[in-house]
Amino acid sequence: MNHVHSELPAAPGTRMPEHRLAISERGSFAFATCSCGWYAPARRSRDLARREGNDHLVASGVEPD
Ligand SMILES: [Zn+2]
Repeated sequence: MNHVHSELPAAPGTRMPEHRLAISERGSFAFATCSCGWYAPARRSRDLARREGNDHLVASGVEPD
């Protein structure tokens, strides 16, 4: 099952935007994306993509799960 694109209704004026991290893969590349619109460059390492995603969460004040 490929669940690549999900459309969540944007809520303007929301005080704290939700950060939901997802790792997308394209070919041998992986990159982290976030529901806030942030995304990392494609990496050849899935672990690196996930680390960058966690860094984004930390930078946004979200505790990575
Ligand atoms: Zn985010």
